[in-house]
Amino acid sequence: MKLNEKNVMLFALTCFIVVSTVWLFLNPIQPIEKHVSDVKEGDYVIIKGYIQEMDVKRDKYRHVIGLSRLVINDGTGNIDVVAFGKTKTELLNYILQYTPMIKEGDYVEVRGKVSVYRGLYEVILDKADDFKLLKKNNFDRDIFLSPTPTSIYASIYGKKYHTLDNCPYGKRLKKENIIYFYSEEDAKALGYEKCKWCKEHEN
Ligand SMILES: [Zn+2]
Repeated sequence: MKLNEKNVMLFALTCFIVVSTVWLFLNPIQPIEKHVSDVKEGDYVIIKGYIQEMDVKRDKYRHVIGLSRLVINDGTGNIDVVAFGKTKTELLNYILQYTPMIKEGDYVEVRGKVSVYRGLYEVILDKADDFKLLKKNNFDRDIFLSPTPTSIYASIYGKKYHTLDNCPYGKRLKKENIIYFYSEEDAKALGYEKCKWCKEHEN
């Protein structure tokens, strides 16, 4: 092989590609800690903030089965945190591994690429490790419904709960709409008030 100008250029180019690939492999791009107010599209960032909003999907016994929206706020602004596919499933498992589960008010760290969706910034998590709980602040109990009948019941559409089987108002409820609570405390925490008839006829 003659060492003409073209070969030298080709050799130099090959060396450059190999060296930069190795360099990138040994020094992966590191995220930069930023405030929400400073992020730009394409940034690879770490943001620490409080969970401002967390919308979840629940089954009929209130067990969490999906994550619809997660928004964090670091005091300079708020930003959506998004994950897809397997990462989304793993993120939900991470959130649920705590008792009570991770929820609004908890202090977290997220890492990911900043993207724009419908005019709003969002951080896209690449893997579940990109989301970390730093401090649990919200210790509100997780409330579930009983899959088997209890003596505390209500209509899923109503606002009153009953404690007596023979309550005339309780008897009017459609069977398919009845939910059962583990405790009156749970019913109250979910916004139900005790039925007057049941209150008066207890004991
Ligand atoms: Zn009643």
